[in-house]
Parts: sequence; C-alpha cells; structure tokens
Amino acid sequence: MRTDETAAVRAADLTKIYGRGEVSVRALDAVNISFAAGRFSAIMGPSGSGKSTLMHLLAGLDSATSGQAFLGDTDLTALSDAALTKVRRDRIGFVFQSFNLLPMFTAAQNIALPSQLAGRTVDPDWLDLLTASFGLDERLHHKPHELSGGQQQRVAIARALSTRPEVIFADEPTGNLDSRSGTEVLAFLRRSVRELNQTVVMVTHDPTAAAYADEVVLLADGRIAGSITDPTADSVIAGLESLRPTVAAR
Ligand code: ADP
Ligand code: MG
Repeated sequence: MRTDETAAVRAADLTKIYGRGEVSVRALDAVNISFAAGRFSAIMGPSGSGKSTLMHLLAGLDSATSGQAFLGDTDLTALSDAALTKVRRDRIGFVFQSFNLLPMFTAAQNIALPSQLAGRTVDPDWLDLLTASFGLDERLHHKPHELSGGQQQRVAIARALSTRPEVIFADEPTGNLDSRSGTEVLAFLRRSVRELNQTVVMVTHDPTAAAYADEVVLLADGRIAGSITDPTADSVIAGLESLRPTVAAR
C-alpha cells in the first residue's frame, strides 16, 4: 500500500497458526500490510482465507504465533493482557455484524458507554456532530428493539466513533442488513472517513460493500494476494476471480 501516508495499522510478518502438529492450520502466513490513516480499507478474500484472523490480530483480540501487529507505533504483540484491554478500549472502535448493542440501554446510553468505561465523558460537540451526521437525533432515547437493523448499526457506528479512536474495525458490518440498510451503513462509514477523518478497516465478502473503500486488500490462503485502489464492484469481482487458479493450484 502507499508509503507516503501514515500507517494507522500495520502487520509485520504476522503469522497465526491454530492448533499443533497434524491438525495445525496456518491461518496467516507472514503477512506484511499497512492500512493508511484517514482511509477506508477493505479486506476481502474467500472463506477461510484469514480475513477475520488478520482483523482480530490487528485489533488485539487474539495473539500472534509470530510477527508483529502495530497500532500506530504500538506493538500489540508485546503488550500484556491488561495493556491490550486498555488499548482496545481507548484507541480502537469496533463494529460487528450483529450490532452488539446493549438491549436495556437507549441509543444515547449505548453511544456513551465506551467513554464511560474509559472514565471519560463524550465530548458533547462531537456527540452532536455524530448523531446529526448519522440521522440519529430522533432516535437517541429509543432502545435497540425499537430501532430497525440499519438504525441499530448506525448507533453502533456512532458508538465506535464516540471515543474518536485511531481506527475502526468493522467485521461484515452489513452482513445482517437488507441491501438498502446495508448501503446506508456503508455510506455512513464512508462519511466518517471523508468528513470526520476517521480510519476504517472493514472485513467483507461483498464486492459491492468493498467498492465503498479507498483500497481493497485481497487475502488468499493466509497471504496477501493483491490490492485494488479506488475499487469498483467489477474490479473487486475480477480481483477475486483472479485468485481462483492460485487457490486451486495449491
Ligand atoms: P475468513 O475470515 O477469511 O473466513 P478465518 O480467519 O476465520 O478466515 O480462518 C482462517 C483459517 O483458520 C481457516 O482455515 C479456519 O478454519 C482457521 N481457523 C480460524 N479460527 C480458528 C480457530 N479458533 N481454531 C482453529 N482454526 C481456526
Ligand atoms: Mg471471517
């Protein structure tokens, strides 16, 4: 990827082997990749290619077998569990396929939760900007079950952005949404990068979703198999197609 921009997130010879001996699986094989700050990046690849593993290691949710995962200048693989928990809480935002909102709390309370857990209050101006940008003004006092799937995921994105994290990791954020709500959520992720200068790294298997990104990284068999700048759904589909002979030949 580009070297003239600051890397928000970086993998250096990052390797993950699950299990031991005959049943071991090399899910990531010495991956080197940078994700630029202030950009929207997508990770794509066939099922089992290592997308979730890569994201989990870069987000400090799982440990590497070898190599390093950097958030800014911080090597996550060198941190204790306690330090990692703090990094995840203070410096990373998460958006999941299943929204993961707390059902007993209102939208506003869900959005404020990460800051509260960090012992901080949300900057009210930032909160206003987020809720206005994401069209949540009228929904702030609703509980998740009173919101549509698309609205719930918008709340989840506002929650992820509430602490102004260095990076947002989104794992299949449109996986549980109809196509209209999915489009809307992708547009909000796009805006959070373009207008709010956030950094987003998204795992998806949907070429249309990947086309919202500035850059797509292709994974195959736990290795980087290519990247596409300014992707379109067609160029992403073509990129995925090009992986097939490689995969079949292995
Ligand atoms: P993707 O997200 O691209 O579908 P994953 O990162 O989930 O791929 O998985 C990569 C490889 O690692 C697959 O072969 C998968 O079966 C294996 N794998 C993932 N998680 C585990 C685990 N906890 N234990 C054993 N194998 C795993
Ligand atoms: Mg996965």
